[in-house]
Amino acid sequence: MQQQHKKRLVILGGGESGVGAAILGKDRGWDVFLSDSGEIAPHYSRVLSDEGIPFEHGHHTAELILNATEVIKSPGIPPTAPLVRELTAKGIPVISEIEFAGRYTDAKMVCITGSNGKTTTTMLIHHILCSSGIDAGLAGNVGKSLALQVAREPHDVYVVELSSFQLENMYDFKANVAVMLNITPDHLDRYDYDMQNYVNAKFRIIRNMTPTDSFIFWQDDPVIERQLERVATDARLMPFAESCEENTKAYVDAENELVIKAENSPLVMPRADLALNGLHNLFNAMAAGLSASILHVKNSDIRRALSDFEGVEHRLEFVATVDGVRWINDSKATNVNSCWYALESMPQSRSTVLILGGKDKGNDYSEILPLVRSKVKAIVAMGLHNEKIMEFFGNEVPAIADTNTLADAVAAARSFASEGDTVLLSPCCASFDLFHSYEERGHLFKQAVAGLE
Ligand code: ADP
Repeated sequence: MQQQHKKRLVILGGGESGVGAAILGKDRGWDVFLSDSGEIAPHYSRVLSDEGIPFEHGHHTAELILNATEVIKSPGIPPTAPLVRELTAKGIPVISEIEFAGRYTDAKMVCITGSNGKTTTTMLIHHILCSSGIDAGLAGNVGKSLALQVAREPHDVYVVELSSFQLENMYDFKANVAVMLNITPDHLDRYDYDMQNYVNAKFRIIRNMTPTDSFIFWQDDPVIERQLERVATDARLMPFAESCEENTKAYVDAENELVIKAENSPLVMPRADLALNGLHNLFNAMAAGLSASILHVKNSDIRRALSDFEGVEHRLEFVATVDGVRWINDSKATNVNSCWYALESMPQSRSTVLILGGKDKGNDYSEILPLVRSKVKAIVAMGLHNEKIMEFFGNEVPAIADTNTLADAVAAARSFASEGDTVLLSPCCASFDLFHSYEERGHLFKQAVAGLE
């Protein structure tokens, strides 16, 4: 009998997902090789060495890659990268870590996508499931990689946050519950500036779903509505909306109570009991409550978990009250739409000082203009290139400051704010001009606020 060669799995990218995939591949008998054109963090190279998995970093060696049976690509590598093009031209399948991990588990998959609110909703669903005694793992953009968990610490259910980049290389993976929170322009630079390409990537989440699976989505999103008319799905449709429309499964009733109608008898709870404030978090709670109900979590457990969830860092995170001024860190608001929701949750009066700016992704600020006019008393632009902000808002708010450092921005915001006001860092922009990441921006902001006390 001829001896069968081991199948060769090549992984591009040595971060959380790549290293997890390497371990799962090794455990399942693949001949694994990992390549990263940049530096692999010491923690991950140590894991690879300890596991005896061959790898390279700082470059890609084509001969070691183009002989793969299958390739797993980090979501950060665009499909237009020369190496990926070469693989595709040779007919070598390029898949995502989630696709790969999905082959090796029968666990239930609750998958969350959308332009905004993914992490919050993912964490909220995970919190509801875990606090009701379900063995649930957190994966995707948050927590440990799905592949690592499937390999070494399996769970009954996974709650998986999926960006459009991750969805791009998914083919046979199936979600049992898929959540689509909203679709607004984001990352268009990766999609040839064609919104439809981005929408198509997001909608890959419903591929392969059957009538026993559920698709939860925001009913009032025009982009989702239009796409649902174009694509067919067998999944059970579970729309949520602010008020009850046709077939709405989660909504707010006339008494300002949240109503969730899925598997259980209707769950009703006062909106005021929700742990997270703001219209956007109401939607996130609806999506999370529906997901949990579909997984047969008891209404009482869902209600309790929705009211004791502690929130996620850098998302409308309350920092401190200093001299009667509330400071809020919403550093994760890296696009205009998420800032819209942050402003929407601010008091009606003109009492918000808004800090915004950073690396502009082609922003159109007109979306937030009405809210800025009604709620914002001053704007502090914080970034290396503030011209666009200064020009757009210069005549729209009573006061505006042009700053290039966090320290100056915090000082300017402090000088504009009086007792009873709120200072909101909700930048509408990526952080990369002044910071390494939105997390660093948020941490430094919190430190600066602590220094005011
Ligand atoms: P993502 O993981 O999709 O980037 P996050 O949960 O990290 O989303 O939230 C990012 C920002 O988006 C928050 O700071 C908040 O201002 C805003 N946001 C959260 N949920 C929603 C929602 N359902 N709709 C619109 N904006 C939202």
